Amino acid sequence: MSKKIIIAIDGYSSSGKSTMARALARRIGYVYVDSGAMYRAVTLYAMRNGMTSPDGKIDTPRLVAALPQIEVTFNAAGADGVQHTLLNGEDVEKEIRSMEVSSLVSPVAVIPEVRERLVALQQKFGEEKGIVMDGRDIGTTVFPDAEMKVFVCAGPEVRARRRWLELKEKGEETDFEAVLANVKERDRIDTTREVSPLRKAEDALELDNGEMTPAEQMEWLMDKFYSISGEK
Ligand code: C5P
Repeated sequence: MSKKIIIAIDGYSSSGKSTMARALARRIGYVYVDSGAMYRAVTLYAMRNGMTSPDGKIDTPRLVAALPQIEVTFNAAGADGVQHTLLNGEDVEKEIRSMEVSSLVSPVAVIPEVRERLVALQQKFGEEKGIVMDGRDIGTTVFPDAEMKVFVCAGPEVRARRRWLELKEKGEETDFEAVLANVKERDRIDTTREVSPLRKAEDALELDNGEMTPAEQMEWLMDKFYSISGEK
């Protein structure tokens, strides 16, 4: 008899974990939750309500006071096969990927009250199991008892190169060194913050995908999934 499990995928930025987590969820018929999108949606709310300044300062007391009014949910996957993030019912999927949100999300994600609220929401999503969630603290804080934990860990140069190619494909010509510096800076902030820093859970399976194709990564994940869940 197979049982539904919780799959936690954590790792550094631009490690390809979201693409991998989404593809895995689709393949096994599980729900996929992008926890980073939730931090991005709260950041967008703060921006829209004048709680941020361009130099990266956040009006923390106002944002914390507004938290009960912020609902982050996801709709069912649309025509593009990707589920969209909703902020108080509004589809903000595109807006939360902007450079402005990207540059403000890390200072928002260090606020303990923001984390507390989003972790509670994330745990609710997992109540019925059958979920794949990716982020930075899923295997350590959100679902410490997840049956399957994966920690994705390609080196910074490999990740920066992926990101640089991605931007190039979108028509954004950027300097590779600048992208590399940004990847390293995000690694630094994510691993050194006080609350739920990014680190590998002791019982997480390590996946260095630097030299792996998407098909090879999927094969690796499915192999682990079958042996852990008992599903075939
Ligand atoms: O995964 P993504 O890059 O979209 O996440 C955006 C930011 O949100 C990360 O750089 C990190 O600072 C924060 N984050 C977090 N905890 C998570 C997911 C994301 O702190 N579980």
